[in-house]
Amino acid sequence: MVSSTESPSPFTFRLHTRLRDSPVPQQRIRDNGGQFQARTGTITTPHGPIRTPAFIPVATQAAVKAVLPESMAAEGAQAMLANAYHLFLEPGDDILDAAGGLGTFMNWPGPTFTDSGGFQVMSLGSGLGKVIDMSALTPSPGGAQPAPGHKRMARVDDDGVWFRSYLNGDLHRFTPEVSMRVQHNIGADIMFAFDELTTLHDSREYQEDALERTRKWALRCVAEHCRLTEARADKPYQALFGVIQGAQYEDLRRMACRDLAEMGFDGFGIGGALEKRQLGTIVRWCTEELPEETPKHLLGISEPDDIFTAIDNGVDTFDCVSPTRVARSSAVYSPDGRFNLTNIRFKRDFTPISDTCPCYTCAHYTRAYLRHLFKAKERNAATLASIHNERFILDLVSGARDAIDAGTYFDYRDDFLARYYGAPSTSTVPSETGGPR
Ligand SMILES: [Zn+2]
Repeated sequence: MVSSTESPSPFTFRLHTRLRDSPVPQQRIRDNGGQFQARTGTITTPHGPIRTPAFIPVATQAAVKAVLPESMAAEGAQAMLANAYHLFLEPGDDILDAAGGLGTFMNWPGPTFTDSGGFQVMSLGSGLGKVIDMSALTPSPGGAQPAPGHKRMARVDDDGVWFRSYLNGDLHRFTPEVSMRVQHNIGADIMFAFDELTTLHDSREYQEDALERTRKWALRCVAEHCRLTEARADKPYQALFGVIQGAQYEDLRRMACRDLAEMGFDGFGIGGALEKRQLGTIVRWCTEELPEETPKHLLGISEPDDIFTAIDNGVDTFDCVSPTRVARSSAVYSPDGRFNLTNIRFKRDFTPISDTCPCYTCAHYTRAYLRHLFKAKERNAATLASIHNERFILDLVSGARDAIDAGTYFDYRDDFLARYYGAPSTSTVPSETGGPR
């Protein structure tokens, strides 16, 4: 969008197949209410293409926890998403700039994303996850409050956010301009505008105020982004996505989409704390309202059913910490559901996690060995389980992509979900939706 040069933009999005145009049986269309937004496409960045829909593994601190980038590439990862807030605090965005940008710094040659830091500034800054008071000096009655025993560490005003580092308590200031400078220094191919995160506990009045702040911040992000793009014309082009907030309110979500669509963003992120049961509805309001030819990213989802909900409703990319997070707790995905490797029944089980999984872990290691590693608290346990889980989700999404192109998406989705959720799960890890990355 904002490249001032005459040359073709190094950032493009090309649609391939729209499910509604593919040879889907009419009955399936009727079964799905005649509406489905699923589509395939290609995002092109200066560091290579991303075929969509795509799962973007999370490398919060310029590392996928316990897994080397070489392993992620071997398992089919196309891009990585890091976190501007964490990298701003440690090692500092100037270090990444000096290193030649995020990808070079972490030895990942492919495309990269950074999220703006807004989510973490306001959630981790409060020290209590999503339940957070983000009112400035006059907390709204019945609004979100810090959990007992937690001190509020983030304060929002119209210009930006004051927050304390979760590492050492130092006071920092984030504004739209600071977020853009930090993200330009980090150098990811796709960045997100700085937005205000609200929670489902905030009042409607507060949501309206926050949305207006986010709109003004989006304009400031675009202005600063344009200035930095010109000032750093020797660097690879970085695309900027606007972030749609508006909580669970249809009118607010649609208004936010219309407002941000006019600002010339390269794509859009759909953000906010979303209730799982409303995820599809809220995403659909946004994808219906936003320009069809722009890529849409759903920020921070969780489980396989959320992935299908996102794809069903026209999301192109999404990130998710669950594969590595649950792997560290010894939980692994399989076509028959999630289970825990530490279960006693695996003590003499010399089969892989999944017979059909082509990942490195399943090619070389048995359930009995992995159980032993977890029991012995060996670090390789997290590495091997994480490799499997990342591959599982990557394959799930590439399978969906192929099925959309082939016109068999609904069969693929329904077969997967029936098998995955039909089997009783032995997992002891609680399900999570979204959360800090
Ligand atoms: Zn595997």
